[in-house]
Amino acid sequence: MVYAEEKRLIKVNIRFALLVPAMKCTINRRAQFSASHRYWLPELSDVDNQAKFGRCTRAPGHGHNYELFVSMEGDLDEYGMVLNLSDVKKVIKQEVTEQLDFSYLNDVWPEFQIDRSGAGLPTTENIARVIWQRLAPHLPITNVQLFETSTLWADYQGNDMEAYLTISTHFSAAHRLALPTLTLEQNSEIYGLCARENGHGHNYHLEVTIKGKMDPRTGMIADLVEFQNAVKAHVVKPFDHTFLNKDIPYFAEVVPTAENIAVHIRDLLRQPIQEIGASLHKVKLIESPNNSAEVYCEEPAESNVEQAMKTPELAAV
Ligand SMILES: [Zn+2]
Ligand SMILES: [Zn+2]
Repeated sequence: MVYAEEKRLIKVNIRFALLVPAMKCTINRRAQFSASHRYWLPELSDVDNQAKFGRCTRAPGHGHNYELFVSMEGDLDEYGMVLNLSDVKKVIKQEVTEQLDFSYLNDVWPEFQIDRSGAGLPTTENIARVIWQRLAPHLPITNVQLFETSTLWADYQGNDMEAYLTISTHFSAAHRLALPTLTLEQNSEIYGLCARENGHGHNYHLEVTIKGKMDPRTGMIADLVEFQNAVKAHVVKPFDHTFLNKDIPYFAEVVPTAENIAVHIRDLLRQPIQEIGASLHKVKLIESPNNSAEVYCEEPAESNVEQAMKTPELAAV
């Protein structure tokens, strides 16, 4: 009886192996929790805590509705799944959300109990790291993404103290897509309505991602306010409520497509982000709900624009 059952299973497995080749797939699961926290380090004076963490030092703390996305990778099983989602849901609930929901983060897990050695503040990036440690023994995770608000989130991929932090912001600007070397007709052929002579505008959404190592005590890869101020000073303030082609000298020569604007923002932010102790990872510019452009920043390579200027293929149109 047992033998017959084994034979049947082997047959099923062989059939499955022949029909469905092994294939890696990433799945994502969303979860939520609400929790409070406070940024305050006992080794610093009140004045220094205040200077470092601003309003986040206020007792007894403040709260967020956190949104968590857990990414997992694996081969598809015979049921067409990487994992059974009800098992995934159960693990995330048991190991993370049931413990964190309606908690005071500074107390709930020893990793955030700041009087212990090795503990760090429950910042977005540090919470993502500790959630990874809690889930990794149970699930084949590849990324933990944690939103503290809709404009601030962290990604952690299991690399020791390294994490990614993203802020999103916006600016409004007008532009016109046209190469100065071409006629209106030629430009209209390439850029369509965007070549119209008096321009048009967008509410641009901008996401800037930095990468760095978390400080074990502050739990931060960089000072958040300095990060926000750098983006504000180098991009939002100079770009907001402008006609990009006329008000930003760079775009007098370079056509301000979403791609070129993203590249220019990358070039403007690389140095200021280094100065706050992190490195720029990615710039994503969302021009409309229908189109966006993103550029990665690891390589201090020659910008795409400079390369394009060297081989002006469009001039031959
Ligand atoms: Zn907070
Ligand atoms: Zn446009």
